[in-house]
Parts: sequence; C-alpha cells; structure tokens
Amino acid sequence: MNYKALEKLALGSGFTHAVPLDPTTISLKQEVRDMCKNGCQQYARRWSCPPGCGSLNELREMICHYKKGILVQTVTELEDEFDWDGMMKAQNRHQEHFHLFLEKLCAFNPEFLPLGTGCCMICKTCSYPDAPCRFPQKRISSMEACGMVVSEVCRQNRLKYYYGPNTIAYVACVLVKGI
Ligand code: SF4
Repeated sequence: MNYKALEKLALGSGFTHAVPLDPTTISLKQEVRDMCKNGCQQYARRWSCPPGCGSLNELREMICHYKKGILVQTVTELEDEFDWDGMMKAQNRHQEHFHLFLEKLCAFNPEFLPLGTGCCMICKTCSYPDAPCRFPQKRISSMEACGMVVSEVCRQNRLKYYYGPNTIAYVACVLVKGI
C-alpha cells in the first residue's frame, strides 16, 4: 500500500481533508497533559487517557518506530459560534469517518497506530485503574492524550486548522508502517 491509496481510503471514508504526516514533526508536551489533568473529567478515569495511556517517554518510544502517517480532518460548518448541537454532531461524524477508515485499513493488514479525538467510550464504565483494559486492541487514545498540540501538528504538516468563523475542524491521525 502506498500513501495515495491510504489517502483515497481516508477521503472515501468521509474525511474532508487528508495529508501525509511526517512523524518527526510530532512533539509530545507535558503542558498538554497538564491541561488534561486540570480541565478534563476523564483524566485518570480511562485507560485511553493520561496517565493510563502511558508516560510521554513510553509514547515517544512507541511513535518513533513509525516513519510515515496520515493526518485526517473533518471540517464542518456550524450555524453560529454557539451551535453546540452542531459541534457534537460534527464530532460524531468525524468519529464515524475514523472508525470506517480504520475498518477499511485493517483489510490491507498494515501495522498501524491510530490516534483519534476524545477518549475511549467502548465501555460505559472503564476498568481503570482496578483491572486491565477490556479491549486493548480496540482502544484508541487521542492525539492530545499523547501530549500533541493538534494545531501545531497540522501546521507542521501543512494542513489548515482554522477555516474561518462558524466552522469546526476535528483532526485525527494514523501512523503506518510499510507505506
Ligand atoms: S476499552 Fe473499555 S476498559 Fe479499555 S479504555 Fe476503553 S472504556 Fe476503558
């Protein structure tokens, strides 16, 4: 599989934009994890989120084995800046695109690492921290949970992040071996 085929799969899954992701542009920052700690109710409540998803060094070690990747995005127009319902629908649509993309990608059997948007909601109540994750193969951590500044990753890889007033852009990525 080459990058073009990967991009075709991504756009065919509903994403509005897809660009090559150079993993060397990814920088994992403690400040982002601190924001999770101070501002997110899922912090220390799910295996997909910090600190359960691994230390920054463990995540760096995981990411450094990938030389290629793809950055995918769903851009949606909102009615206005307070259109919370539109934002939720846009996020759900982005998640649907991501799951469809990963499903299609599995058929090609590459080794890949998906990093998505938001926390893992597979189980209503996560087993963290009392028991191991029930579905470690299906669990997906977010780019932020790994310490990435998403807008910066987009900028570094020449993907627009802001599309003007009353728009919202959700972003995810997949690191892939063998493309
Ligand atoms: S799969 Fe279940 S146990 Fe594992 S992180 Fe997701 S919610 Fe938690």
